[in-house]
Amino acid sequence: MRAATEMIHRGEGVNRDADPLTLPIYETTTFVFENAEQVKAYNAGRSQRFLYSRYGNPTTAAVEQTIARLEGAETAMLFSSGMAATATTLLALLKSGDEVVCSSAIYGGTLHLIADLFPRYGIKARFATVDELARPEALLGSSTRAVWFESPINPTLRCVDIAPIAAACRARQIVSIIDNTFASPFNQRPIPLGVDLVMHSVTKYLNGHSDVTAGAIAGSAALVEQIDKARRLLGTILDPHAAYAIGRGLKTLAVRMERHNSNAMAVARWLENDPRVLQVYDPGLPSHPDHALAARQMRGFGGMVCVDVGGGQDRAERFFDRLQVIKRAASLGGVESLCSLPVLTSQWGHSDAQLADAGVTRSMVRLSIGLEDPQDLIEDLDQALKS
Ligand SMILES: *Cc1c(COP(=O)(O)O)cnc(C)c1O
Repeated sequence: MRAATEMIHRGEGVNRDADPLTLPIYETTTFVFENAEQVKAYNAGRSQRFLYSRYGNPTTAAVEQTIARLEGAETAMLFSSGMAATATTLLALLKSGDEVVCSSAIYGGTLHLIADLFPRYGIKARFATVDELARPEALLGSSTRAVWFESPINPTLRCVDIAPIAAACRARQIVSIIDNTFASPFNQRPIPLGVDLVMHSVTKYLNGHSDVTAGAIAGSAALVEQIDKARRLLGTILDPHAAYAIGRGLKTLAVRMERHNSNAMAVARWLENDPRVLQVYDPGLPSHPDHALAARQMRGFGGMVCVDVGGGQDRAERFFDRLQVIKRAASLGGVESLCSLPVLTSQWGHSDAQLADAGVTRSMVRLSIGLEDPQDLIEDLDQALKS
């Protein structure tokens, strides 16, 4: 019995010389030490060992390094969702009395976290329009500790000039943080532009297969170390099994993004030439208000396209209901093309004035263009526009 117990405990049947091609999943909550000296070395930060998977896990850590490389950052951390990354980061960096300046055109979850939850803990919020973000100095006050923004912005794909915001923040020792989810690091790398921290909903393009919820933060070791302390306490780290799936998704990021970029461009150009639609929003189109900026700070324009089909919410709903290849679903960044109506999802419950502030109309349709044959997508859009 003793021999069998030992084998089960220590996995002694495993050939330690096996060198796997793919990343092993360390499906363990805890790690074995040889002696007290090793535990002391870990506690003193003098060792590369792992102690407990809520603090860190080799599978998760390997994928974190890949994300850091992709963003050109010193280091990165994975979380159980994009919102876990956002909440953990802001809780780590802010305290009662601090102010966070936040783009008013921002992911809904981020907006509610900053506008509704954080004020209960004394963290103040100041919201800024895209035009105000173009003059960042005027937004930064004596209690501002962080600036949180997004580019391109959902659903209009307006873009924000990243480098001047990063520079204004750095001059005042304010932490600048960008949600880079819509672009992906293939299309946009904010760290070399001077931003302190890059956040991702890894659920979207980084994973790319619409089957794992995850988030990430990338930046300097000094900032990420502060966030790591909060992640240990809040327990928002990503599970190793999910991290493995993210690592697999990242292997094809470049080829997927090239196809997302070219498919979305093909769809946007086709839609723009169709008299049945009112307006097409895609930063890759010269007609987009931020085309020149996007061309300057992005390598590709991404897979998102927003279309105003005109004719009010009724026409948008009829178009939506008729789609066959493109699926009616929230979220974005996966293999399958998805369609959502901003008035029913990201801008649900907004007044006409709030819609106008976000640049959103009731007849807008948001498309996340996937990896299908672009002709299949165009034919689907064509038949849906007959409504
Ligand atoms: C989806 C999304 C988030 C939130 O990420 P989750 O993984 O759903 O928690 C944040 N920002 C943007 C731009 C998103 O699209």
